[in-house]
Amino acid sequence: MLLTDRVALITGGAGLNGLGFATARLLASQGARVVITDLEAAAPLQVAATLGDAHLGLVADVTNKFEVESAVARVLDKFGRLDVLVNNAGITQPRKTIDISGADYDAVLDVSLRGTLLFSQAAIPAMQRQGSGSIICISSVSAQRGGGILGGPHYSAAKAGVLGLARAMARELGTDGIRVNSITPGLIGTDISKGKLTEERKAQIAGEIPLGRIGVAEDVAGACLFLASDLSSYCTGITLDVNGGMLIH
Ligand code: NAD
Repeated sequence: MLLTDRVALITGGAGLNGLGFATARLLASQGARVVITDLEAAAPLQVAATLGDAHLGLVADVTNKFEVESAVARVLDKFGRLDVLVNNAGITQPRKTIDISGADYDAVLDVSLRGTLLFSQAAIPAMQRQGSGSIICISSVSAQRGGGILGGPHYSAAKAGVLGLARAMARELGTDGIRVNSITPGLIGTDISKGKLTEERKAQIAGEIPLGRIGVAEDVAGACLFLASDLSSYCTGITLDVNGGMLIH
């Protein structure tokens, strides 16, 4: 067991087909007590309950500072510590540059970038007191290759912002024993792309990927487990590509 006695919080973790829930399942199977946070509509309490009594589900909109701080306070109240934070919540929109409205920009940037900042700010003091912690930020290959699959340029910008934020936090927090790393998934089959890509387009994308397939949520969960656990104890500020070779650089 790689995560015995650890407490791990995953934002946006209630989507049953999503990267977050796959990660929650895997971390729980490695002994972690898992906290799933998500919007009320995604039913995080019910989803967390499917993992067993040791785990916790909480409603927290990552863009709402009060809800984020309340969620972390609940975790500390119940478990007394927080070892792993996975900043996973994100939304995307297919848009051309010229069509991105102010509301589009706010929606996409706020969930990925502001959400990552707010949850990290809420978690850091507890990790500093412990002298240890692992923060994992879910960016995207879209940040590295300039989109072109699903999201518009504002999504690429949000995810590139996440990379910069994570690297700067890694530099700042290393002496506190807190590691901060990013994962850049390629195209992973989850609800985020549901109905947005034709089967033909998916087959075409898969044909251009060296490993010959679109990713599955478990591919990203495995990378999260590595970064959450002591297997990665000398890794901070890294960007771990989980893209089947879609982008090799
Ligand atoms: P998903 O839609 O299944 O999961 C996203 C989750 O975030 C959902 O459960 C949703 O309810 C939650 N969420 C949305 N807004 C929120 C908010 N304001 N507060 C709290 N939770 C909120 O999609 P996914 O593919 O599992 O995506 C997970 C992460 O991975 C996202 O950050 C996404 O941008 C990123 N990503 C996904 C892919 C992919 O191909 N699936 C590729 C690269 C990066």
